[in-house]
Amino acid sequence: MTGSIAYALLLLLVPAGAAAAVLPLEEVAPGLYVHVGPHEDFTPENRGGIANLAFVVGREAVAVIDAGGSPAIGRDWLETVRARTDRPVRWLILTHVHPDHVLGAGAFAEAGAVIVGHERLAEALAARAPAYVANMRQLLGAIFEEPQLPAVGRRVAIGSPLTLDLGDRVLEVAAWPTAHTDTDLTVLDRASGTLLAGDLLFVERLPVVDGSLVGWIDAMSALERIPARRAVPGHGPAAVAWPQALAPQRAYLEGLKQAVRELVRRGTPLSNAVASVPAPTGWQLVEPNHGRNVTAAYVELEWE
Ligand SMILES: [Zn+2]
Repeated sequence: MTGSIAYALLLLLVPAGAAAAVLPLEEVAPGLYVHVGPHEDFTPENRGGIANLAFVVGREAVAVIDAGGSPAIGRDWLETVRARTDRPVRWLILTHVHPDHVLGAGAFAEAGAVIVGHERLAEALAARAPAYVANMRQLLGAIFEEPQLPAVGRRVAIGSPLTLDLGDRVLEVAAWPTAHTDTDLTVLDRASGTLLAGDLLFVERLPVVDGSLVGWIDAMSALERIPARRAVPGHGPAAVAWPQALAPQRAYLEGLKQAVRELVRRGTPLSNAVASVPAPTGWQLVEPNHGRNVTAAYVELEWE
């Protein structure tokens, strides 16, 4: 039985509001565990659990990377960590503002973890949370619970990486200029040579541009120089070869930039832009995300 089938059966057996469940994990390097999210939008069945989540265990403490997309997923995720290690969860690192990564944070804050985020995360959360919560209420229906929004205890500034020592295990947390969003963080686990890339790396699932297309392409040039041997993408398999795994995303984003630049140059109006850029192949969840990316790229590139 595969992990995902076992998990689906488990969900059928656990009524809403029941005790937290343990999520499937892959150990991609010694002491570094990943829960892989499915390539889906929010549904009552997945409870907003669609992003990859990870944790790193040091000699003294644990750091968790991303919290999942709902309070229920957050509780399960905390239970999953606790089932694997009794060391304290000292840090919850949120890789960016998107709801599938942050709305489970309440369970970790309650358990005493310090929330680590980009210097702009608190402001971005305050601005976007009402819309995220309204959307989640609609998509999750009867199982919706009001999420507790995390207070960012450690803000990471662009150009000033934060070093977290978990006890013989050092994580380097870096804040990025606007790319996938305006709140992107990456985490480098030096001991295992693993880059936890958040949504600066999409694999299989179409990348979503919610920050800056040009900024993201620029960020990839810096990202690929990070000396890691593997990466954990925000969406995709538990671990991929680094930096080779950037190639499909780079091809899509570069192609999008060239196509939209050409539309702007020719004077094609925004209203015709989406229909003028063919949808890419080889990705999951292409629409409506490709159309949104074209619109976002047009608005960004039109004033170059
Ligand atoms: Zn995202």
